Amino acid sequence: MEEAKESEVIMLLSKQSPYPFLEVPFHELQSFDPDFAEDLLREPSSILERGSHALKQICRERGEDLETVLRVSELPRDSRIALRDIGRVQVNTLCSVEVIVTKVSDIKPRIHRATFRCEACGELIEVIQKNERELKEPLSCPQASGGCGSSRRETRFELVLDTSGLVNNQWMEIQELPENIPSGGQPGRGMVLIEGDQVNKHLPGQRITANVIPVIHSEVKRGKKTPLFDIIYHMVSSEHESIPFNEISISDEDKEMIRSVSQRDDLFTLMKDSIAPAVFPTGRMPFVKRSLALQLFGGVARINPDRTRMRGDIHILLMGDPGVAKSQLLQYMSKISPRGKLASGGGVSGAGLTAAAVKDAFSDGRFALEAGILPLSDRGLAAIDEFDKISEDDRRTMHPAMEQQEIYIAKGGITATLPARCSILAAANPTKGRFTRHANRTRSVMYNFKETGLPVPLASRFDIIWLLRDEVRVEDDERIARHILDTRTLAVAETKIEEGMQLDPSSEQEDLVFATGVDNKEYLTINFLRKYIAFAKRHVHPDIDEKAQKKIRDFYRDARLAFDKDDLDSMNNNEEAVITITARALESLIRLTEAHARLHLRDIATEEDADLAIAIYKHWREETGIEDESELHSGVSAKSRRVSGSVRGMLREVCSEKGHAEIIDIYNLALPMNIPERMVDEVISKMLTSGELYSPREGRFSFVR
Ligand code: ADP
Ligand code: MG
Repeated sequence: MEEAKESEVIMLLSKQSPYPFLEVPFHELQSFDPDFAEDLLREPSSILERGSHALKQICRERGEDLETVLRVSELPRDSRIALRDIGRVQVNTLCSVEVIVTKVSDIKPRIHRATFRCEACGELIEVIQKNERELKEPLSCPQASGGCGSSRRETRFELVLDTSGLVNNQWMEIQELPENIPSGGQPGRGMVLIEGDQVNKHLPGQRITANVIPVIHSEVKRGKKTPLFDIIYHMVSSEHESIPFNEISISDEDKEMIRSVSQRDDLFTLMKDSIAPAVFPTGRMPFVKRSLALQLFGGVARINPDRTRMRGDIHILLMGDPGVAKSQLLQYMSKISPRGKLASGGGVSGAGLTAAAVKDAFSDGRFALEAGILPLSDRGLAAIDEFDKISEDDRRTMHPAMEQQEIYIAKGGITATLPARCSILAAANPTKGRFTRHANRTRSVMYNFKETGLPVPLASRFDIIWLLRDEVRVEDDERIARHILDTRTLAVAETKIEEGMQLDPSSEQEDLVFATGVDNKEYLTINFLRKYIAFAKRHVHPDIDEKAQKKIRDFYRDARLAFDKDDLDSMNNNEEAVITITARALESLIRLTEAHARLHLRDIATEEDADLAIAIYKHWREETGIEDESELHSGVSAKSRRVSGSVRGMLREVCSEKGHAEIIDIYNLALPMNIPERMVDEVISKMLTSGELYSPREGRFSFVR
């Protein structure tokens, strides 16, 4: 081995790192000496220790005194084991586990080589410290190496810190990957001890392959050791996941199928139908489902030359009356999205949605950083139900989490920035049970947004906000009813599945690509869809071509121009000019366009993609009555603000002449300005309620002085 690693050793010597180490991939050891490699898996501790020692020797021969460490990495696949299966047999062997990091403690230095001075004779004695829980003192001053031979009763040993070797040490909590857990099972967890150069390498929320040695520790209860043992893990080395969605394996056959499905003319419709097929698409629902399909794929995140990042993930908010299948959509989306997670805004325990610093998570008084839902769904989708009920803390961290997709935490002496590159699908209910119904449609989505009790600026972080109403429409109601009943008949009783009397219908679907719903509509199975999405997100990163860019630019310019023209009329009203559509909307359009191209596995987003993105965008804005972007920020539409300014101006003018104004005068003044009577009424009624105006008699108004 020494010859083979000559060049690495020289590198090691030249690096001057505080923790010099040599990492050898397992396959190199195996090709060099298969027996040795096998032994290493069985007795890693002693072999690695000897290896480190030999390495130290080699360095010393070259004139460098270094605390070198030897590591092995890239363990073979057959040493992989599920965390929950690790037990007696695996203790003290080398295992590799695929896990997600959930908590990381702060760092403490630990003595690994203690030097003691004998108070009787002054001799220095070195004691290697293997146990991380108690400090081991010498039993006596050893005569063999020139000491006085006094026992612990005859002398005292004083710890000499400056010649002792210290090493940083850290605890980490790991958990099995959610997708590897059999349904309903609890994920296996473990505590990992990390030392030396390996500390601070991982953040909560990261997915890693950890190569560890399970060791046992006697459980301590009320200060006494018990015959039961805890397993803790010593970290040998670790590998970051290099390919996104590594956990979803896609065979060549799958790839073939994905490619052929992607060629279908009706692909977007098929995708739409594959989103929660049990939810019957009435009213706005088909568009909602289309936008959800785009959300699954997302746009392309890009890094600017100045290191700033533009998010690619699409955030969607579903506001709606109770019982319009919001929760059901969220549940389904969290299932089809690779790394999807479902959480309820109200009942998230522990780290909540973002992250938390917890004290004493590893029972040694240290602070630890724990990842919440968003960092844990990094690169995936976080479906958050009851978004209106999220805690104050989460609300505050939600803005940056949605835009920068990072969670910055500074608590309990820990500061860290956790990546949270996930798209957010949120559902919110109105605080008063149902959204207020307005006679006219000038009240927009934003008015209803306020009814959820959420802060208005949060709205601007969503690319799309849908308002789903529980409206009574006889024809639709009947179709939904039939759909729900048909779905129920098709579904199999849970008890029958548990008792083995009938097959789980979802397991029958496991290897299928297509399935048919109750209405004989074809849709893609969850399993296939997950593979399709993972494949697209891994391999397709569309750029927007010139024509598509022009389409988006034109839409943007027209939307702004349309506003400017209107605006000229009201120039003399001292209304603050508001921009109809901001750069934020432009970014949303780009993301939707890229997502549509990615859904079709196209590397170039064309005009066609831009058209669809614009259509969906217009749909949620117009259909739901939203007029312009500024409304997203202030909650009042610019147009209605302008109108109310104009009407107020007319009232003042007339009143200053005659002392009062007749409604008919105002109607007449408003007519040439294109303000309908209904809007005049609305402004006046608002001014009456606010006490600005009073009405001495029917149809006549005066200002309150
Ligand atoms: P929400 O979260 O919006 O309050 P849920 O998702 O809990 O609503 O839905 C309530 C019930 O109504 C669910 O059982 C759902 O299946 C049913 N439901 C509502 N709308 C539809 C629809 N369009 N198609 C099928 N089922 C529906
Ligand atoms: Mg619900």
